[in-house]
This record gives sequence, C-alpha cells and structure tokens, in this order.
Amino acid sequence: MNVVHFENVFKEYTLGDSQVHALKNINLKIEDGEFLAIAGPSGSGKSTLLNLIGCIDTPSSGKIYINGQDTSGQTPDQLSELRARTIGFIFQTFNLFSVLSAEENIEYPLLQFKELDTAKRCERIVRFLDIVGLKAFARHRPNQLSGGQRQRVAIARALATEPKIILADEPTANLDHKTGEGILQLMKEINRSSHTTFIFSTHDTRVMAVADRLVHIEDGQLIEGSIASV
Ligand code: ADP
Ligand code: MG
Repeated sequence: MNVVHFENVFKEYTLGDSQVHALKNINLKIEDGEFLAIAGPSGSGKSTLLNLIGCIDTPSSGKIYINGQDTSGQTPDQLSELRARTIGFIFQTFNLFSVLSAEENIEYPLLQFKELDTAKRCERIVRFLDIVGLKAFARHRPNQLSGGQRQRVAIARALATEPKIILADEPTANLDHKTGEGILQLMKEINRSSHTTFIFSTHDTRVMAVADRLVHIEDGQLIEGSIASV
C-alpha cells in the first residue's frame, strides 16, 4: 500500500510581487515501510515537500493522498487529526521543550489522545525511551543532554504516537558525523523492527548512502531516472 501518493503537485509561495515555484509537478509514490531519503541542495524544495507530506502545508494544485486519504478538501481540523494519528516529526534542531524532561517531552504529543490514560502513556514513555537507549536519562532536561541524545528524545517523541510515517527534515545536520551515523542507524533499526515508514531529507551524501531508496530533487523537480529502489 502507498502511504504517500502525490499526483501533479505544485507549490508556489508569494514573496512580495514575485512567485517562488518551490515544487513543480511532483509525482511520487511511497510504499508502507520504506526507508527513503529525499536528497537535494539547499533551496531545492526538500522542506516544502516534507511539509506537504506532513499536512503542515497544502499544495497550490495537485492531489496528495496520505495513508490512502485524499487530503484535498479536508478542513484544518481534519488535517490536524490525520497528522496527529499518522505522522511523527523529527527536526534538524530537535525542537524539544527546554523546560520539560525527556520523559515529559515524549509524553507531550500523547496528551491529545483521550484514549491514552496515565498508565498507557507511561508504558509508551518507558518503551520508547528504552528503544532509543535513554532509559537512564528520563528526568534529564534537553540542556543536560548531548545533541545526539536530544535527537534520540525527538525520535522517541515521534514514535510515541505510533505513527505510520516518520518525517525527518535534515535530522543529522546539527550533529557530528559519528553521532549522525548512530542516529541514522537507530532510525533504520526501528524501520526494520516496527515497519514504520521513514522519509528523511538531506544534502549529505553519507546520509544518502544509508537510504534504501533515494529521490533526488533539484529546483523543485524530481529528477527523472534517479529514483531507484533497492
Ligand atoms: P530546502 O528545504 O531544500 O532547502 P525549501 O523547501 O525550504 O528548500 O525551499 C524551496 C524554495 O521555496 C526556496 O526557493 C525557498 O526560498 C522558497 N520558500 C520556502 N518557504 C517559503 C516561504 N514560506 N515563503 C516564500 N518562499 C519560500
Ligand atoms: Mg529545508
């Protein structure tokens, strides 16, 4: 099954008097369980593409299906429900709440789900802290953790809602090479064991090498013939 399906998607931004054509006629299908990198230089449209997959933004034209659902015509409330239940986000700058501990950061997205009582939330916090190897750091706040540890908390937070898709926008850009490699390896292990789809963007060739499938984007266009499944 395709968890992501783009049909003739365009995205334009208005900047003063001019139009920026950030995405031009994107056609893309991503299968459930893929470990896929979107590779391209700065300004090529990677974040725009991820934001559209994540229903953070809407296309100027074209159709986007997420987990089989047509997102066009959905209300902002319906889109945020789809986002909350289907998608987890990992950011370049980690985006953790600095006043919350690791376990509180992981718990935060769970608070919106009424069906998850305290015991169920606790179970998930413990389970995902363990998966990312940070059980001993549950009470630490972000400023008491290294960059790699912060990104591990962010991965646990993204996983905690048990989403179908995890989107990671340049997840290793603020980490040294060795730490970044560890983060990618962890994401790959989780992909293999949980079958969660991972879609990450990068302009680092070493990061691209870890992906099972590479999609190149340049100047808002996917480059023909460069999409190869392994
Ligand atoms: P990347 O993530 O690959 O660096 P982006 O998706 O951020 O690329 O940007 C693609 C293009 O769209 C760039 O030319 C960028 O300047 C432009 N862009 C992105 N966001 C906005 C915005 N909110 N308003 C205007 N232009 C934007
Ligand atoms: Mg970007």
